[in-house]
Amino acid sequence: MSDCLFCQIIAGEVPATIVKRSPHGIAFRDLNAQAPTHVLIVPKQHLASLNDTDDARLLGQLLLLAKEVAEIEGLSHRGYRVVVNTNREAGQSVFHLHLHVLGGRAMAWPPG
Ligand code: 5GP
Ligand code: ZN
Repeated sequence: MSDCLFCQIIAGEVPATIVKRSPHGIAFRDLNAQAPTHVLIVPKQHLASLNDTDDARLLGQLLLLAKEVAEIEGLSHRGYRVVVNTNREAGQSVFHLHLHVLGGRAMAWPPG
């Protein structure tokens, strides 16, 4: 989708710091990091939110990419959080499905 920010990042039309590319998605650093490590995992295919797919294989691949990013960032042992904000009450602001990988500091629970 030409008016989607994350589609534009995938197409290379908007710059981003890429952490990892896979055949199914890319991982890049969040512009407004909420933790020392804050990486977004996005599918190459435009899907507005988690509500818009039942593709278990794709969702599994994205979750595995999140795990791989945590390994790359040295977070596997100390811990990290994977978050999928879905629609307005959850705070989704970019309507292209994405997983947040957050780590590098202690996290509170419950989240705000
Ligand atoms: P959401 O609020 O939809 O769960 O997450 C969207 C995320 O995209 C936010 O954490 C926000 O900081 C990030 N973001 C917004 N615009 C840009 C951008 O232009 N580049 C990058 N790398 N991240 C962005
Ligand atoms: Zn998109």
